[in-house]
Amino acid sequence: MTNDDTTGREAGINTRLAHLGHDPASYHGFVNPPVVHASTVLFPDAGTMAARNQKYTYGLRGTPTVDALAAATDALEGAAGTVVVPSGLAAVTVPLLAFLSAGDHALIVDSVYTPTRRFADTVLARLGVAVDYYDPHAGAGIAALMKPNTRVVFTESPGSNTFEMQDIPAIAAAAHDGGAVVMMDNTWATPLFFRPLDHGVDISIHAATKYPAGHSDVLLGTVSATRACFPRLQDTTMTLGICAGPDDVYQVLRGLRTMGVRLERHAASALAIAEWLEGQAGVARVLHPALPSHPGHAIWKRDFCGASGIFSIVLDGGDTRAAHGFLDALRIFGLGYSWGGYESLAVHVQLDDRTVATAPAEGPVIRLQIGLEDVADLIADLERGLAAAARA
Ligand SMILES: *Cc1c(COP(=O)(O)O)cnc(C)c1O
Repeated sequence: MTNDDTTGREAGINTRLAHLGHDPASYHGFVNPPVVHASTVLFPDAGTMAARNQKYTYGLRGTPTVDALAAATDALEGAAGTVVVPSGLAAVTVPLLAFLSAGDHALIVDSVYTPTRRFADTVLARLGVAVDYYDPHAGAGIAALMKPNTRVVFTESPGSNTFEMQDIPAIAAAAHDGGAVVMMDNTWATPLFFRPLDHGVDISIHAATKYPAGHSDVLLGTVSATRACFPRLQDTTMTLGICAGPDDVYQVLRGLRTMGVRLERHAASALAIAEWLEGQAGVARVLHPALPSHPGHAIWKRDFCGASGIFSIVLDGGDTRAAHGFLDALRIFGLGYSWGGYESLAVHVQLDDRTVATAPAEGPVIRLQIGLEDVADLIADLERGLAAAARA
């Protein structure tokens, strides 16, 4: 379907999520697209084969299943094209490889997802790309950090684990003035709460592993681009031989159908819990952009239309023993990485790799993913955690 309902007005987000990416009438009326397992695609004759003159030519180059998810993601992101890759981390590394060459310089936000930094410090360094990490609050001041060979400015807002908000329109304008491509890891917001391409970003990156998949059982990434950037992105993805398995792609498309209602619940529960935590003894700060106390709240309010279900707390004093005491007292929150699934998770965050956006001084940082459980039960669990941290 298109973005319009039959009367021409733009349909609401849940209406669109329910129908984007697949037209049942084009496939015998089945509500869902087929899960196409494919390498070989047959051609009707030698001429067609030589000219590759048909929609599908080889499994690596696209299938109806991948196209359904890519089309849905294009519509949600306002993108000219989307590539689907096997993990969220691949959704970070593939565009960096596509747009950086030996001798280039890249600016990466210091509050970036840690494996993104590891890729930059190892693979990009080995390929001869220089990287500088910049302050998430740089805003238009990023102009001063641009070099003649700066080809990519990489953003992530809010930042991983510490949730700093970046002034994306200001950064994008300065980066474009210097001739750089602007990339954004938009996993936290999903395209429901922020559409990077509408704010000057060229390439929007998602770990579809998180909210789109929604059930902690799939790894997948999407990279969506403007018309100017998509050909190079797509060509590099194919040249590297990267594609995603059809069952995983299907699971994410399935997850998209309910992502709107799931996110409503994640968002409401997370904000209620964040507000409750702000008043608790033992909590120095709550790092949640939708709280008026958050230093990036004004930017969040200006640019975003929602906050998802993951944020951090800074404990008021204590060390690793307090953090471990907190975690070990939890009975509902699981101790595990990743997020975006239906179940709540907690993790003691390590920030030793930061150079500018350094660790809060007050105490350990605990990241909370608020799942779909009942808020009262989650608060009771966090009370156990805070009591244990106080005893540690
Ligand atoms: C989880 C995550 C990724 C990587 O996703 P995977 O599918 O686990 O590889 C990338 N960016 C951010 C911000 C993430 O939280």
